[in-house]
Amino acid sequence: MSSTLTLLHKAGFRFAFDPDSCKECPGNCCRGVSGYVWVTDTEIRNLANFLKMNTIDFRQRYVRKIDNRYSLKESWTGTDYPCIFFDAEARGCSVYQARPKQCRTYPFWEENRGLTGDLTHDCPGIRNSSDFSGDKAQHHR
Ligand code: SF4
Repeated sequence: MSSTLTLLHKAGFRFAFDPDSCKECPGNCCRGVSGYVWVTDTEIRNLANFLKMNTIDFRQRYVRKIDNRYSLKESWTGTDYPCIFFDAEARGCSVYQARPKQCRTYPFWEENRGLTGDLTHDCPGIRNSSDFSGDKAQHHR
């Protein structure tokens, strides 16, 4: 019996994304080299609400200011820099339902527009669209 592969596509991007790959991935998009997970004031409020914290405490504990923007903090494990909300044991996001737009839209980021399988070393869910032209596809917004 064959299983159905569901790939997400977005107009203007040359790759597709298989969300089922996240189940086997160690969390590559939430850890690795140091980086930024940008958050807006609204997203900070949503995350604070999700954790039943007040916004001031949430900012002090989980947010850092970079110039005039805000990013979630990251940890240092000795080998890499996971997002402060990455749960290494569960291999997933501990605030998944309230995660910011940057996380919801990965890997369809402006900077990735035009790439094909080049992302594969980071994300096992990236597929070249042309390799799977016969599969069921959904559109990602
Ligand atoms: S908020 Fe969640 S999905 Fe986003 S980088 Fe952090 S752990 Fe990953």
